[in-house]
Amino acid sequence: MSSLDARLDALRGSSPPVPHNARTLAALTANPGCDRRSLLDAAGIDKDALAAHLGLPRPLRKSRLALSHDVAFERQVTGPNGAELLRLLRETLGLTLPEVSYEDLSSVGDANASSLQLRYSRTRALILSAARDPSDARTLLDHPVLRLTVAGHQAYLEPDAIAFQRHDTAQRQGTFHIVEIKSFAVIDEADNTKVTAAVIQAAAYVLALRELLASDGHPPDHVSDSLVLVTPLNFSDRPTATLVNALQKIKSLSRHLGRLRRLPELLDQLPPGTTFDLAAGPDEIPTRPRSDLAAALATTRPRYTPGCRQHCDLAFHCRSEARNQGRIEALGTEVRDDIAGLETIATALALTDGHLHPSRDQAHIVQALRHAHQVHADLLAGIG
Ligand code: SF4
Repeated sequence: MSSLDARLDALRGSSPPVPHNARTLAALTANPGCDRRSLLDAAGIDKDALAAHLGLPRPLRKSRLALSHDVAFERQVTGPNGAELLRLLRETLGLTLPEVSYEDLSSVGDANASSLQLRYSRTRALILSAARDPSDARTLLDHPVLRLTVAGHQAYLEPDAIAFQRHDTAQRQGTFHIVEIKSFAVIDEADNTKVTAAVIQAAAYVLALRELLASDGHPPDHVSDSLVLVTPLNFSDRPTATLVNALQKIKSLSRHLGRLRRLPELLDQLPPGTTFDLAAGPDEIPTRPRSDLAAALATTRPRYTPGCRQHCDLAFHCRSEARNQGRIEALGTEVRDDIAGLETIATALALTDGHLHPSRDQAHIVQALRHAHQVHADLLAGIG
């Protein structure tokens, strides 16, 4: 284990790691400047469990009914032996009958970190075998595990499936496709936030698969820019597959990943001994005092915006913190951007009413604030 992994394990404490998923990856592009989230995600910390222990609403929690619907649809598509999925792939990718075959990796190892490593090693061996020898019989890998470098750290990712499409033997090359299975109906692909989240998720899998193949000298175009999205047909429970172009999201995610601050730098800023361990007792109930956990969170730098509610389990904690500290970002992204450079509402008010003198850089912001204040006062006078 590297020293970076050991430091992240210490942050997480006794709980098993939660791998990156659709939300954590979508959040990377939504709020790349949040150090708190970068650290928690890199350490595989269950943010929903933190929110629950802090006694806060959990904005992203899915109902049991929704979860079982997801599982039932995925089972319908992948079992038995991926028959339905292979049929869909034959139609979507034009696979010929003799070349389809199926390998399920979900049974490799058990449900812990070493199992992820085992499944990654097995996935890697199968993928490289297919890449080196396009006549390799394995066409569909179910429940593979990939690895992506996120802020200098190896994050394990679990796409639903990877399909290998053989080209003619003259080309001596095949193309890998990421397959995602989602239980939501797609009515308008261009205006569907769930499709966008699925595409961002797939973009991360594409980058991870390219990283794997690059380690063996294969070029990026061995992995398609298009994902195969399997969803129910309209509102029925019949699955259908669509090829969705993920090129823009791949480019955007790649840019964001490149800009993420390095983890060692963030870890160095934490006080020694910082941990987010909930210290679960023998009955699995956390024993860590809430105030202690909140104090540990306060050692990390958040970047709250109201949009956090769409993608982060800790949104209500960070919102209260931003409000209690009177931080500008609690008022929204537009206000934060309009008066960039001012950190608190108290400072903005003091500059507006003249209790504080603006620096040269702040002069134009203060002028705008005073104008807004005058408009507000005039409106109130008019109403009165
Ligand atoms: S809710 Fe908090 S931890 Fe999550 S992204 Fe927003 S600021 Fe960061």
